[in-house]
Amino acid sequence: MYTKVRDLLALGKENNACILAFDCADVNMIRSVCMGAEKAKKPVIIMLHPSPTYKNILPFGVFAQTTKYFADSVSVPVGLHLDHCGDFDEILTAIHEGFDSVMADGSLLPLDENIAFTRKVVEVARNFGVDVEGELGHVGVAMESDDFSKKEFFTKPDEVTRFTEETGVTSLAVSFGSAHGLYKFPPKLDIDHLIELRNATETPLVLHGGTGIDDDQLKAAFANGINKINIGTEFYMLNTRLNKEFYADETQAPYTFPAYIQPVLTDYIAKRLELCTVEL
Ligand SMILES: [Zn+2]
Repeated sequence: MYTKVRDLLALGKENNACILAFDCADVNMIRSVCMGAEKAKKPVIIMLHPSPTYKNILPFGVFAQTTKYFADSVSVPVGLHLDHCGDFDEILTAIHEGFDSVMADGSLLPLDENIAFTRKVVEVARNFGVDVEGELGHVGVAMESDDFSKKEFFTKPDEVTRFTEETGVTSLAVSFGSAHGLYKFPPKLDIDHLIELRNATETPLVLHGGTGIDDDQLKAAFANGINKINIGTEFYMLNTRLNKEFYADETQAPYTFPAYIQPVLTDYIAKRLELCTVEL
């Protein structure tokens, strides 16, 4: 059942729980997330990371309509969200083509410019009833640096209060020990720092860089203020491995591929959704 992200985040907040959000790149991934959520009887969010190459496969409007179609084919709530986007015009295009939740990523900008950029997106998005996730502090790329583990790069609680009040975002990605992609060594989330961030705002908080963090740390984060987690890399890697296995035999017919990949992706999603403690 297609559902707005704000309603899913409210469900997370009411239940002191986290909604899992998965980056998808094609129809098999989108459909498997819906079926996995149905199997687990949990809510879920489907995200598009707006890289130019994906848009050659599924333009915004096609991705949005595909997600809504498969979301409405299951009974559990499924949301749609545009992941990291720092381009104002591109965000408007996504909204125009059917995305009702977007991320305005100004995290690489100085604080004042991040606030100005994010507020500009919120002012437009609000007119269309569209949700906006901001990012404060920087969730970097794990392979490029280990800055993500240093406290000086964590999101600052006083800035959280200012940022959420001045921008009006409906959710906020924060940094307290995670990074995007694969880690060189196991990450350590700073839960005490997260509690300070949570106490600085009523806005639901988001954890990026979910791949490679052990479940016990994730559960601690979900119990202490994280209401949405983005999972990209590990889902992509499973998808890539299954593609390689199937197409290793070049006589395989593409139309038999969905029946091969979707059950495996569906099982992965259902298993991952055990981390969601929302009871529908
Ligand atoms: Zn991210």
